Amino acid sequence: MSQLKPGVVTGDDYRTLLKACKAGKYALPAVNVIGTNTVNAVLEAAAANKSDVIIQCSNSGAAFYAGKGFADGFQAKVMGAVSLAQHVHMMAEHYGICVVLHTDHANKKLIPWVNAMMDHNEAHYKQHGRPLFSSHMLDLSEETLEENLAESKKMLERMAKIDMSLEIELGVTGGEEDGVGSDDIDNDKLYTQPEDVLQAYDTLHTIGHFSVAASFGNVHGVYKPGNVQLRPEILKNSQALIQSARGTGGNPLDLVFHGGSGSEKDKIAASLNYGIFKMNIDTDTQFAFSEGVGKYVFEHEKAFKYQIDPETDEPYKKQYDPRVWLRKGEEAIIERLNEAFDDLRSKGKSLAVATANQHAA
Ligand SMILES: [Zn+2]
Repeated sequence: MSQLKPGVVTGDDYRTLLKACKAGKYALPAVNVIGTNTVNAVLEAAAANKSDVIIQCSNSGAAFYAGKGFADGFQAKVMGAVSLAQHVHMMAEHYGICVVLHTDHANKKLIPWVNAMMDHNEAHYKQHGRPLFSSHMLDLSEETLEENLAESKKMLERMAKIDMSLEIELGVTGGEEDGVGSDDIDNDKLYTQPEDVLQAYDTLHTIGHFSVAASFGNVHGVYKPGNVQLRPEILKNSQALIQSARGTGGNPLDLVFHGGSGSEKDKIAASLNYGIFKMNIDTDTQFAFSEGVGKYVFEHEKAFKYQIDPETDEPYKKQYDPRVWLRKGEEAIIERLNEAFDDLRSKGKSLAVATANQHAA
């Protein structure tokens, strides 16, 4: 088994990590974060499960990281992402696991956001010999396939120079996530066509490393069951077409499962056979955090109204201390991620080799 240094992985190390996932038929959860509480909960959960993990943020999550009061909305999306990445670079190695740093959906309007982050990646590469992020995502699935691939190619040309990877999306994933996607779409479009995937492969594979979020009935968010049918065999068909048409080995594509929240467990398991190495999870960890905090607040209602109980004079400081209830949110995220590491079979499979400064997890 290959071994890697704990911490953020980019370039060759990133590719080593996802090759190990595909060969071992397991995947890593890609968890959307919005601040240090969620980042640290993800790191703690990964360390406890001895699994590597993917940390990512959406453009609005990045802006939140910078602060809601940050005056320039565009710069907030950029600086928040940079700040998040620097926090993870500082902390990840001390948790003793490998972390992939990613950003989530960027549609056509958000190409300038990705380009602005690329300026920071290039500056970081110049100084440290590696980029700040392992990979960014461009979701141009609302555009024509031709435009999607032309823009993706342009971005990947820039990324490949500094050892970065690009995730693209083919087909429309249902649901609503940061304004991308649609829930009234004709059902045929929820399934990516293998011919489109082949075209993407031909356009991109000689330029640099890329991964593909393919639609196989998955939706963003959690909806009532039965609305869409997950069909992991769509992934299998795309892999098989490229293998036969281009003479590659098995499962040539690095595939990403969007909208992992609320998905049927047997369909998650099936997708692991077809080259899925990353499963996005956002909605379920959001709910976990809020549920954990909410439960505590409901049980300690008075501590959220009074510093001292008006009748008994009992001081409530130990109950309203934000560290206490924020921790409840973190613990709930960790519990939900324990389930994700199980579903994705990544438990105990971290490629990180223990080092002297490793945090005892
Ligand atoms: Zn998506």
